Amino acid sequence: MTRLLLQFSKQQITFPITSQVILEQGVLLNILRAHVEPTFGEILVEVPQEYVNRIVNAFQKRGVKATVQRRLEVDNNRCISCGACYSLCPISVISFEEDYSIVFEGEKCIACGLCIDACPTQALHI
Ligand code: SF4
Ligand code: SF4
Repeated sequence: MTRLLLQFSKQQITFPITSQVILEQGVLLNILRAHVEPTFGEILVEVPQEYVNRIVNAFQKRGVKATVQRRLEVDNNRCISCGACYSLCPISVISFEEDYSIVFEGEKCIACGLCIDACPTQALHI
């Protein structure tokens, strides 16, 4: 599965664009995270690898920005094992080894960015 970040403008959030794409393409999208405000919308979806280009094109022709979402990475040279990321992660994908090095279960991460903002040493990035 590939993760796509879909970004909707103020005008686009009033239309059922995601539903249109699902029906038009006949491909089910797994929604991992959705955030909608009066002025913009952002959805993180999982798409089967073989349909990524089709889905990206279907959103882009409707003016929606669709980009492949990269996985969270940790720079172990910067990490000081403070635990800030661990305590904030809403879905508990971060854990510690016995030596206090951190472990990410990257396939579960919903790329919310909370840990990135909290890290005091900028050891995390997407
Ligand atoms: S980006 Fe969000 S979900 Fe992913 S590890 Fe960080 S806090 Fe957890
Ligand atoms: S917040 Fe940053 S420094 Fe602290 S444990 Fe997480 S990755 Fe390491």
